[in-house]
Amino acid sequence: MSEEKEFITEWANPNLGLTARITKLLHEEQSPFQHIQVAEGIQYGRMLILDGVFQTSVKDEFIYHEMIAHVPLMMHPCPKRVLIIGGGDGGCAREVCRHGCVRQVDLCEIDEKVMEISKTYFPALSSALRNPPEKLHIHVGDGIGYVKTVEDFYDVILVDCSDPVGPGEGLFTREFYKNASKALRAGGILVQQSESPILHQRLLHDIFQAMGESFPIVRTYIANIPIYPTGMHSFTMASKQYDPLTVSCSRPVPQPMKYYNSQIQKSAFVLPEFVKDCLYRGIYSF
Ligand code: SAM
Repeated sequence: MSEEKEFITEWANPNLGLTARITKLLHEEQSPFQHIQVAEGIQYGRMLILDGVFQTSVKDEFIYHEMIAHVPLMMHPCPKRVLIIGGGDGGCAREVCRHGCVRQVDLCEIDEKVMEISKTYFPALSSALRNPPEKLHIHVGDGIGYVKTVEDFYDVILVDCSDPVGPGEGLFTREFYKNASKALRAGGILVQQSESPILHQRLLHDIFQAMGESFPIVRTYIANIPIYPTGMHSFTMASKQYDPLTVSCSRPVPQPMKYYNSQIQKSAFVLPEFVKDCLYRGIYSF
C-alpha cells in the first residue's frame, strides 16, 4: 500500500486500488502476525487496516457485521453455542451477543494486538470486547488449531478472518472445513467471508467447492461493502441441515438494525448470473 501525506491506498492488485483521503494516521505497528494501522478517514471515518488491506471502517462496519452474524443466526432454530474465528475488532461478537438464545460465544483471535487496538480506537465496534457479557469467552490463538480441539459442540461457526494470506491462509482449506464440520453439532452452520465475487472469482469458486466436500448444503450470499474491493462482497455458508433458501425464521429479529432485515435474509442469496457461473461452473467473467 502506498500512503502519501494525506491519502492511504489499498492495492487489491497491481492494477486496482482504493484510495481514501485521511486526516491522520492515528496508529501504526508491526504485530507478530501483521502490520496494523488505524487511519482517520474522511469518507468512511476511522479505518482499521491490516497488512495494507482495509478491514473495517466506523461508517460501513454495520453492513459486514450484521450480515456475517444475523443471516446464519436467524435461520438456525435455536443457536446456543457460537464460535467466531478472527473477528478481533469485536464487531461480529457484538452482533452475535444480541441473540438471547445464544448462551456461549467463543472468540478465537490470533492477534491480541488487534483486540487491544480496536478497544482503544474503535469503542462502538469493540463494545463487546470492552465489556464482555458473561456468555462471551475470548481466546487468543490460531483458529485453525482451535477448531481441531472440539467435536459436535457448536451450532454456528463464523469465520470473520482477514484475506487468505499470512495467518488467515489456512482458514480457506478443505482440511479446515472438514474440522469445522466435526466441531459443529447436527444442524450446524458455518459462514466464512469469501471475498469479492468480482475480483476473487477463482478463490470464491474454490471455497464453494471445498465446503461442498464436507457439507450437504453450500450457499453464497452477497452484500455491498463500500471499503472492500469493488464494493460487492460475499459470504459463503455451509450447512449440515438447514437450507437458507427454504428455511423459515421464527424468532424475532434483534432491533435496531441498519442493514439486515427479514427480506434480506432471503434476497441476499439471490445471485447474479455471472456469480452462479463462477460458483457452479468455474466460468470467470473478470
Ligand atoms: N471484522 C472485520 C471486517 O469487517 O471484515 C475484519 C476481520 S477481522 C479484523 C480479521 C481478523 O482475523 C484479524 O484480527 C486477524 O488477526 C484474524 N485472523 C487471521 N487469521 C487467523 C487465524 N488463523 N486464527 C484466528 N484469527 C485469525
